[in-house]
Amino acid sequence: MTDMLTSPHSSTIAPERRIVTAIPGPKSEELHARRMHAVSAGVSAAFPIYIDHAHDAIVVDVDGNQFIDFTGGIGVTTVGHTNDALVDAVRDQVGKLTHSLFAVAGYEPYVRVCELLAQHTPGDHHKKSMLVNSGAEAVENAVKIARKYTGRTEVAVLHHGYHGRTNLTASMNYNMHPYGTGFGPLAGSVHHAPNSHPFHDGLSGAEAAKRTITHLEKRVGASQIACLVVEPIQGEGGFIIPADGYLNALADWCKENGIVYVSDEVQSGMVRSGAYFASEHFGIIPDLVTSAKGIGGGMPIAAVTGRAEIMDAVHPGGLGGTFGGNPVAAAGVVAVFEDVERRGLINEAKRIEATLMPLLKNLQAQHPVIADVRGKGAMIAIELIDPATGEPAADAVKAIQHYALHQGVLFLSAGTFGNVLRFLPSVVMSDELLTDAMGVLADALESL
Ligand SMILES: *Cc1c(COP(=O)(O)O)cnc(C)c1O
Repeated sequence: MTDMLTSPHSSTIAPERRIVTAIPGPKSEELHARRMHAVSAGVSAAFPIYIDHAHDAIVVDVDGNQFIDFTGGIGVTTVGHTNDALVDAVRDQVGKLTHSLFAVAGYEPYVRVCELLAQHTPGDHHKKSMLVNSGAEAVENAVKIARKYTGRTEVAVLHHGYHGRTNLTASMNYNMHPYGTGFGPLAGSVHHAPNSHPFHDGLSGAEAAKRTITHLEKRVGASQIACLVVEPIQGEGGFIIPADGYLNALADWCKENGIVYVSDEVQSGMVRSGAYFASEHFGIIPDLVTSAKGIGGGMPIAAVTGRAEIMDAVHPGGLGGTFGGNPVAAAGVVAVFEDVERRGLINEAKRIEATLMPLLKNLQAQHPVIADVRGKGAMIAIELIDPATGEPAADAVKAIQHYALHQGVLFLSAGTFGNVLRFLPSVVMSDELLTDAMGVLADALESL
């Protein structure tokens, strides 16, 4: 109780960056020593700081340093850290019903989340959902459902994709390291096909789709494939936006061949891209959609949503898990959906793009190391390439992250070659903070 009274309420944080100690500060250093003793070395850390509290777009570390957060917990806190509506809903729910296991005895928040997902995922056909705990679990379940529905075994994925850290999803990732190295045998029946990456391959959507489809038809056979799992905007791969018509051609091919088209929107979904789900930008209506990160606003929850006839192909008891769709996390999702509607947060994601894009294009004009600026909504990235050699400039990304950290800005890297700097701000980040942080980025680029 004393603690609650003396600790600062997160919503009173001044919306500004503020560095008051060396980075890392003494308390972070102390925590780090404890971590090194107690936490597995297999769990890495991008930054040497430890967070005490956070609100909207600002995180405060244990030493009182304030950072403008462009990581959003990797695209999770889209509606802002400690979003007021979310915190209220979670507080209410945790004292009402913390757990019952939906498969034992149900509760309303689970059902409400499934209704909201049906309403806001692309397409107006009859949709159903099932809830789990993590993005990887959602992808695993989408594959299970597609296999049961089609009676087929094979799974198709794209180069530069990322789908999680379980055995099956590690097999579906493009990068073997660090996700799969030494963990084999990984799952079989997973087939990797070339993607569309207009900045690098120069192919039109139709040309890239032909390359993908030919690969899968020759190497696997369309009649063997249960599902094609695609991120509409590849996240970890470096915010890759496919060429116009690419995804549409793949979706058409899936339809013609009885393949379930799964849109993995764990990162791109839930308002992040300036639409509820990024598939909308491309006019795609997926058979199944996976969502996680942003839907719970920080609560651990994930979902598979899709055509009722596909979702119902599974026998009772074939899907589930102890914590899936936990009432507290589900209440969080409901609060996030309501807050998005109440505060028009899709427009805020568009505002982020409108503010960031010109600032980044301006930096690109001054710094040839910025080879590409791309993204949608609050999902924007710059790709850094050494202008002298044409090689991916991962070291420049690291140097920028290091510089910005010491100035009170947290930037995240991405990309198969680690040479993409990605911006995943909360959509409630103000234009003032965006502009201030881009000033820090400009200084970081000067310092290279
Ligand atoms: C993060 C991510 C996952 C995995 O989600 P977890 O919650 O970390 O298991 C799956 N797919 C995509 C596209 C992701 O970005």
